[in-house]
Amino acid sequence: MNNKEFGPCPLCHGQETKVLFSTKTPLSKFRLVQCKICELTRTFPLPSDEVLSVHDIHSYYGKDVHKFNPCVQKIRNLIMRMRAKYYLSFISNSIQTPRILDVGCAEGSLLKSFLEYGCQCWGIEHPSYPDQRFLDSDRIIYLQGDLHNINLPERAFDLIFLWHALEHMDNPQLIMSRLHKLLSPKGAIIVAVPNFSSMEARRFKQFWFHLDIPWHKYHFNEKSIGYLITKNHLRVIRMSTLCFEQGTYGLLQSILNAMGWPKNEFYEALKGNLTYRRYIHVVIQFFIGVFLLIPVFSVSFLTSNRGRGPVLKLLLKKKRMGK
Ligand SMILES: [Zn+2]
Repeated sequence: MNNKEFGPCPLCHGQETKVLFSTKTPLSKFRLVQCKICELTRTFPLPSDEVLSVHDIHSYYGKDVHKFNPCVQKIRNLIMRMRAKYYLSFISNSIQTPRILDVGCAEGSLLKSFLEYGCQCWGIEHPSYPDQRFLDSDRIIYLQGDLHNINLPERAFDLIFLWHALEHMDNPQLIMSRLHKLLSPKGAIIVAVPNFSSMEARRFKQFWFHLDIPWHKYHFNEKSIGYLITKNHLRVIRMSTLCFEQGTYGLLQSILNAMGWPKNEFYEALKGNLTYRRYIHVVIQFFIGVFLLIPVFSVSFLTSNRGRGPVLKLLLKKKRMGK
């Protein structure tokens, strides 16, 4: 369908689009529109900062100093330390003090883990992020604002993280183009985005946990993220769709959503958004979760092994000259 209402694809500028399905939040209705050429899917209309500000952004970020309750937060911190160690293995041992940039760094727990390995760290977050959450702000350079308006040294960063951040951006192409300029010649960009071609996304559609409307403006699959990577003179070193951290939980929450429970109610409880009225709901959902845990874990593992897992994780480096 050549639909002028949607305008050209912001990635490949193709005019041919198709509407996949509709979804709504308590305040707005949206359609999921996919480009027929590069398969980039957009939330339409694109949620502006104004639209997002009328949704409950404080509830989205969680109300306390930490996003999750202390037990979940401890597990997250452990995962962050493992992640930091793993990705440092992809850069040269000869770099004395690796420079790390985390775009969409949240409270900075990943960067805090990198500090333990003697790295120099920069973190960028959206201006609406509650800045009282930032950890180690005396040792990490925290910047709030738009990546395009922030002064950063070019060709300086050895690892750049875009971990579940690209889908929130207004213009993914501009972001990748800027990151290419900031990346050191032998550095790596690590991207993680929800996988719109995953089994979960296809099966659960508007109930899919990682669809996350209105916060997610773009929805990537292997083809559209590949288009973005190639357009920005980058190459894929490693790709995986396996993510136990978000995969198992995402599938479980998608099932609860499809069963008819209020959307993401259990997840909200993990963030501390729990009212007395919700308490009994959450207890029932907890027991459903325990009952489904092993099957959900198995399905998550099997689909990820076949490239249909819920998250696209990519390690990118600059293209070699002449290629
Ligand atoms: Zn396109």
